[in-house]
Amino acid sequence: MKIICIGRNYADHAKELSNALPEKPVWFMKPDTALLKDNSPFYIPDFTKDLHYECEVVLRISKAGKCVDEAFAANYYDQISLGIDFTARDIQEEKKKKSLPWEEAKAFDGSAVIGRLLPAAAHPFPFMFTLDKNGETVQNGNTADMIFSPAKIISYVSQFVTLKVGDLIYTGTPAGVGPVKIGDRLTAKLGEEVLFDFEIK
Ligand code: MG
Repeated sequence: MKIICIGRNYADHAKELSNALPEKPVWFMKPDTALLKDNSPFYIPDFTKDLHYECEVVLRISKAGKCVDEAFAANYYDQISLGIDFTARDIQEEKKKKSLPWEEAKAFDGSAVIGRLLPAAAHPFPFMFTLDKNGETVQNGNTADMIFSPAKIISYVSQFVTLKVGDLIYTGTPAGVGPVKIGDRLTAKLGEEVLFDFEIK
């Protein structure tokens, strides 16, 4: 399986990082070794001094697709969840300045946290989601604020890479990203339902 992530998909987050609004989806990938599930703790790697959480809605692909028409894209995922796109912000800023790829900042082991999967049919868009750090809400998202909808993302990305069953798409983060340190606890809720709750070590 592969992990596809969308960047800058909420205007307020693009603004907080001083990025221009994209005209087309901005996407990158993480390897399967990035996946962290079942509320396993995340161990901060030594190579970063500024590790940020980014809470995102995740789509699980349920059908192989290439050049998917936007009108049929909803048939290509059947489960959703919330996840974290962990980002070494210090490394990302350095790479951005030099126009270099982001993998060192984004694709490291454990950098793609995934929560409990829910049936997509039971949770139609739009919906609200939150991320709490140590019990305090730090990100408040509403999927209605996405610049590119799941259908648009699936249609766009599948022009370049074939989507396969089990692939995950991280759909971008709303404003409120910030650093984590050892001992922090991250909890994500879709409505009142807790989808993940784990510790930073
Ligand atoms: Mg992200």
